[in-house]
Amino acid sequence: MPRPSRKTVDVLVAGAGPSGLVLALWLARQGGKVRIVDKAAEPGTTSRALAVQARTLEFYRQLGIADEVARRGLKFAGVNFGFAARRRRACRWARSAKGSAPSPTC
Ligand SMILES: Cc1cc2nc3c(=O)[nH]c(=O)nc-3n(C[C@H](O)[C@H](O)[C@H](O)COP(=O)(O)OP(=O)(O)OC[C@H]3O[C@@H](n4cnc5c(N)ncnc54)[C@H](O)[C@@H]3O)c2cc1C
Repeated sequence: MPRPSRKTVDVLVAGAGPSGLVLALWLARQGGKVRIVDKAAEPGTTSRALAVQARTLEFYRQLGIADEVARRGLKFAGVNFGFAARRRRACRWARSAKGSAPSPTC
């Protein structure tokens, strides 16, 4: 994305986390000139994006990118929580009403 000069920016987005980045992408898609700033000097070093939450996918659907994201990703029917190589709890995603996010049953 070309970097607009200060004079031509329509929106200044404070925060380059997922919320700020998606907002900036959406505004740019609408034709807005956006600048993103973040108080952190560099990207984070720990993973925060192992899984896409169902609620996030609902927002992606509003943006028209949910099907593409799901197609490129891996689908999980459940998750195991463990500690020190021992499984403590297994959760399965339960089906909910059509169109809403599935909820975990543990
Ligand atoms: C260990 C860990 C693992 C996670 N794993 C997942 C996962 O697998 N899947 C998932 O969906 N979610 C996961 N999450 C949750 C996910 O990281 C958060 O839901 C998401 O980061 C929230 O995004 P955000 O943009 O609202 O906030 P943040 O990611 O917190 O981003 C806010 C940004 O704004 C900046 N900022 C703050 N104040 C200012 C200011 N005054 N001026 C300028 N910049 C500012 C911050 O530096 C930061 O970069 C995980 C979280 C953690 C901690």
